[in-house]
Amino acid sequence: MRKRIALVAHDSCKREMVDWVEANKSILALHEIIATGTTGRLVEEALNNDVPESEKVCVRKLKSGPLGGDQQLGAFIADGTIDMVVFFWDPMTQQPHDVDVKALLRITVLYNVPMACNRTTADYLISSPLFADENYQRKEKSYDNYINRKIE
Ligand code: PGA
Repeated sequence: MRKRIALVAHDSCKREMVDWVEANKSILALHEIIATGTTGRLVEEALNNDVPESEKVCVRKLKSGPLGGDQQLGAFIADGTIDMVVFFWDPMTQQPHDVDVKALLRITVLYNVPMACNRTTADYLISSPLFADENYQRKEKSYDNYINRKIE
């Protein structure tokens, strides 16, 4: 089954993201890729490099992260339309959109979406037997109790 995989990399991690995409090109080409603007452009180039025209893939590019792309992605996650997130965020540099970064991390955990924040975890995720298992159902948490909570 085609999965919807979201890719985001901060500037200092973009080289690493492109390397990871190149190393996993054949698997990623089978799935739908959604990415923040600049990451998406670089990833699309990497996926289509040396690929015949008829086999080129199209990456869905959101706005650039600092321009709202992280929030757009967060909305997709809340809507249940993302199956996995690879988010290489930079632990050494403060970002202009730090609050959006935090929100993306939070919403991904809230909806129990698998997320890799470094290359080793991304390797583990993409090579997991569960990634390839058509029958694996991610447990979706119900927040009905929260929505229906009593307000004094
Ligand atoms: P970018 O955004 O892919 O447009 O650079 C990434 C981010 O900083 O969230």
